[in-house]
Amino acid sequence: QDPLDVDAIRADFPILDREVSDGQRLVYLDNAATTQTPDRVVDVFSDYYRGYNANVHRGIHQLSQEASIAYEEAHDRLAEFVGADGREEMIFTKNTTESINLVAYAWGLNELSEGDAVVLSEMEHHSSFVTWREIAKKVGAEVRYIRVDEDGYLDMDHAAELIDEDVEMVSVVHASNVLGTVNPMRELADLAHEQDALILGDGAQSVPNRPVDVKELDVDFYVFSGHKMAGPTGIGGLYGKKEILEDMEPFLYGGDMIRRVTFEDTTWNDLPWKYEAGTPLIAQGIALAEAADYLDDVGMEAIQAHEEAVTEYAYERLDEFDDVEIYGPPADDRGAVVAFNVDGIHAHDLASILNDYGIAIRAGDHCTQPLHQKLDIAASVRASFYLYNTKEEVDALVDALDAARDIFN
Ligand code: PMP
Repeated sequence: QDPLDVDAIRADFPILDREVSDGQRLVYLDNAATTQTPDRVVDVFSDYYRGYNANVHRGIHQLSQEASIAYEEAHDRLAEFVGADGREEMIFTKNTTESINLVAYAWGLNELSEGDAVVLSEMEHHSSFVTWREIAKKVGAEVRYIRVDEDGYLDMDHAAELIDEDVEMVSVVHASNVLGTVNPMRELADLAHEQDALILGDGAQSVPNRPVDVKELDVDFYVFSGHKMAGPTGIGGLYGKKEILEDMEPFLYGGDMIRRVTFEDTTWNDLPWKYEAGTPLIAQGIALAEAADYLDDVGMEAIQAHEEAVTEYAYERLDEFDDVEIYGPPADDRGAVVAFNVDGIHAHDLASILNDYGIAIRAGDHCTQPLHQKLDIAASVRASFYLYNTKEEVDALVDALDAARDIFN
């Protein structure tokens, strides 16, 4: 029994009814890259521009007050959505990438030095992989990588070995955007904290798809993107423990993030505004809060259960074929992504043929080149699912693979 009324949910996303590639019904399976946006969220976005568009925080006039209240309350809403203690622990950024860069620059550049180490995993997205390595280079710190084993899981014995007294930061993806692995964030947090290190969880693929409670995970930082959780592009979140955010230096300087400026000195604004310099992403932030409401109205547990059923079905259908190789953990133990290759067909060619059948999937390295090097492949195709996807869409994908084989063989 599907916990979701998927027909009703699909009606909230009119884009899913459109045709592509000369009359093919759209089968949208690129949700790990960007999810579709329900009408409710689009409406909130346009209501803002039609009704109360104004700059926030500084205005005495009514429009500015309305915009400020909605924008500030959006922080409370997202804090609640991930289990944080209120707006002081929820900073709005542009996306996951900017959230990680904020921590890497504001915390890493000041706190890391020669002799320190940062621990990443081999399955990190470039947004964490490249960022931490560049910051480590600047300060002379070492970077270590937790091994991914043959089944696509983190080698936790290796993690325990790597996270020693030199380690100051552990930055690990919660749910892999390629392997689908859901990593043991709490266990990693405990390992980090035993060594007085901090931990950052990349929640880009978990906040949209499963209930997340940052306090239960005991992470120090946690990051996510709005456009992967039924929200707009241009907005993301950074959760940070309040005492850490209070101690940290700002990331960007300018208006709004200050309390008082004199010719001699500057003091910083309260959290979270200390980390939101300049005019922020007002409409995007307000619309993101509506996306969180939407997901909660549907129910995060039901969303997770539905996605797991569709993902398991996709894995099993693809696994029927000898010429398909699927990467990562077994069908019943993964997030809502299935990355694979079909023998003899390049990932990009495959995605291009699937597009002719209306099927939107991604081909490439999915911003995880080191992981692809480890898997010894140049690229993979990735189907990724959300609350509106169905098993019939998985069947359409499998049928189109047959057509691709016919073309290539
Ligand atoms: N981390 C993971 C695990 C992701 O899947 C993505 C998006 N593909 C990112 C980080 C980066 O997200 P964004 O491009 O929104 O910054």
